[in-house]
Amino acid sequence: MSERIETDVVIVGAGPVGLFAVFELGLLDIKAHLVDILPKIGGQCAELYPEKPIYDIPGFPVITGQGLIDNLLRQIEPFKPTFHLGEMVEGLESLGDAEHPRFRITTDAGKVFECKAVIVAAGGGSFQPKKPPIERIDAYENTGVFYAVRKMEAFRDKRILIVGGGDSALDWTLNLQPLAKHLTLLHRRDAFRAAPDSVNKMRALVAAGAMDFELGQVVGLKGPAPTLEAAVVRRDDGSTFEVPCEVLLPFFGLTMKLGPIAEWGLNLHENLIPVDTEKFETSTPGIFAIGDINWYPGKLKLILSGFHEAALAAQKAHRYVYPEKKLLFQYTTSSTSLQKKLGVVPDTRKQPEAV
Ligand SMILES: Cc1cc2nc3c(=O)[nH]c(=O)nc-3n(C[C@H](O)[C@H](O)[C@H](O)COP(=O)(O)OP(=O)(O)OC[C@H]3O[C@@H](n4cnc5c(N)ncnc54)[C@H](O)[C@@H]3O)c2cc1C
Repeated sequence: MSERIETDVVIVGAGPVGLFAVFELGLLDIKAHLVDILPKIGGQCAELYPEKPIYDIPGFPVITGQGLIDNLLRQIEPFKPTFHLGEMVEGLESLGDAEHPRFRITTDAGKVFECKAVIVAAGGGSFQPKKPPIERIDAYENTGVFYAVRKMEAFRDKRILIVGGGDSALDWTLNLQPLAKHLTLLHRRDAFRAAPDSVNKMRALVAAGAMDFELGQVVGLKGPAPTLEAAVVRRDDGSTFEVPCEVLLPFFGLTMKLGPIAEWGLNLHENLIPVDTEKFETSTPGIFAIGDINWYPGKLKLILSGFHEAALAAQKAHRYVYPEKKLLFQYTTSSTSLQKKLGVVPDTRKQPEAV
């Protein structure tokens, strides 16, 4: 029998943006349940780059992916969100009307939620790394070939070959170079999609002899599987050479699999959900889309953009959850009632006498 849960809002996705939505909803007395396919909280930050530093979170000159998620969890703790991890939201059905929306959400674990608003914070959907077409690559996966860096320490004193020319390849080149025994960056051409600053830093390391940069493509792997010993690289002119390595990190981007979201009857724009920029609501009243999953002119896929979107979506969600209440805008620092919710000041209201 399926489990039935009634709540104010269901948040699809427990990445950084879904987590911050809990905070913004909580300030408005709105309760949330979060569902995520991954078995852990934190979306891309926790899954793809827990130890990579992030430099563009306001108020934090530097923080790691996991550090940010840990802080967000501390920040939303007063609102006691419920997490449903390792579960995919499959079905989303509208029950009410535009003025009084209600939704039924079903997960692949058989749970059924009924709620007044839905916040889709599903990032790129379920993201999967694009694998390079190298014969027998599966035989080395998770022993010599990794598509994400979960623990930098695992690569200490290893000979590392990083392949790619985007931000992930360059970020990990700069972060892993200090602890690698030797690091080589390999790219098809001497032009990069990554941030110019990262490319300049990489070139400076190459000039100082601290790492190598090679042109070419990996066409084969050597070593008694699952132990990787070298990668065979082919240059543009057809000649080949070997790069000795115990670790190969191919960063060829992620395939974003939208999954069941495509079946929810929402308008889509190239696998993203278009929203207005006033309340980040989708084509269906009561369903909001925030973070990497949404699209609007000028959208930047940055965590800080998602935080702003969460704040505005929560204001509109309040109208659906409490149609009879007027919402007054308040700062957390100037409202004692908000501070009580956050546990910053003790609740001194007189408690009813025990009888
Ligand atoms: C290597 C790398 C470095 C980056 N560096 C920075 C940086 O320095 N600064 C910055 O601002 N941004 C950075 N980003 C981008 C940043 O990580 C994203 O903008 C951010 O994670 C988006 O957050 P989100 O919560 O919208 O989505 P996500 O983090 O993608 O989380 C979405 C969650 O939704 C879940 N989900 C999807 N579909 C369903 C479903 N049907 N049911 C249940 N769960 C579902 C997914 O499993 C996932 O956990 C970086 C990204 C990468 C890959």
